[in-house]
Amino acid sequence: MPIPVTRLDQADPILLEQLLEVVGEVARKGAFTMGAELDAFEREFADYCGTAFSVGVSSGTEALSLALRALEIGPGDEVIVPSNSFIATAEAVSWVGATAKLVDVDPDTHLITAEHIAAAIGPKTKAVIPVHLMGSTVDMDPILTLAEEAGIRVIEDTAQAHGAYYKGRRAGSMGDIGCFSFYPTKNLGGWGDGGAIATNDEALAKQIVLLRSHGESPRYHHKIVGTTARLDALQAAILRVKLRHLDARNDDRRRLGAALRAGLEGTSVELPSPAHEDGDHVYHLFIVRTKQRDALRAHLEQHGVSTAVHYPFPIHRAEAYGPELEGSLPVSERLAEEICTLPLFPTMSDEDVARVIAAVASFESEE
Ligand SMILES: *Cc1c(COP(=O)(O)O)cnc(C)c1O
Repeated sequence: MPIPVTRLDQADPILLEQLLEVVGEVARKGAFTMGAELDAFEREFADYCGTAFSVGVSSGTEALSLALRALEIGPGDEVIVPSNSFIATAEAVSWVGATAKLVDVDPDTHLITAEHIAAAIGPKTKAVIPVHLMGSTVDMDPILTLAEEAGIRVIEDTAQAHGAYYKGRRAGSMGDIGCFSFYPTKNLGGWGDGGAIATNDEALAKQIVLLRSHGESPRYHHKIVGTTARLDALQAAILRVKLRHLDARNDDRRRLGAALRAGLEGTSVELPSPAHEDGDHVYHLFIVRTKQRDALRAHLEQHGVSTAVHYPFPIHRAEAYGPELEGSLPVSERLAEEICTLPLFPTMSDEDVARVIAAVASFESEE
């Protein structure tokens, strides 16, 4: 059996039983939208993030879109977004009618920095979306200072970094608003699509509560134009169970990430470095870099190690966005050609880790 890039809940039979039980409870009550499970999850997730409020929504992309709408960002406005991210970060900006101003990332950390943002701020800039990509925390303090000076808002894309710390604060709790995805593969994943926002701003939280459900409060009183973007009660019930395990699972990821890192030292693959010594890495993705990426992938495949590429195109090279920026964000473009995602998931065994390391090492000796 090849080692997969990631594994979902069925790989953990005890957890699976716990989850099936809460699914049964929700089904027997027939309480599928809003209600007690969602309220409880929102309280528990806000506590976990260290924010005053959390609001469950239907996906990470909706979390970003609704955050932008709650901040009254729309047509004529610009939002700064790193090109080395999943497309959703830019898509949400475009979806609300604003312009995604795509910028490059640091070649060592693969992440956006305050310098990239400072160079991109213009008269129309309303916000920036730093992305804690791979689970590696962005150096936030210089960005928060810059944003305050420039009078722009900070929306953290925390879809890959639930539970990561930066200087003692949780990712997603530092900007005006943090946006999370609970897509099944994420560090906190449901059984389908889901997302949430976290914030200390009560007005923003209230606005997102209105927006996610037809601007309705109370029933059939539609105060503003909203949409259907709620987090289902089934997902909330599942996420409540998994939230209790998140710190332990992130510790597993940190331990496995450190073991892979140590084992790959001295091989030809390069590893991204941390953005700040008081930052964190919760290894949503374990990414290495090599000029012979495609050859490495073929070699690993032959040795029973699955791989992936997150992502094969930087956002500005996507058909939806290109091609005006082609060549202008060289770091993101080179990364897209050289990065390779290796297996890492909490139930990965020490033997799996050793096999991955040996497979990468044997690539070199065969060259
Ligand atoms: C997964 C992801 C999203 C989008 O989340 P969905 O729940 O799939 O809509 C946004 N940004 C990043 C960086 C992601 O990895």
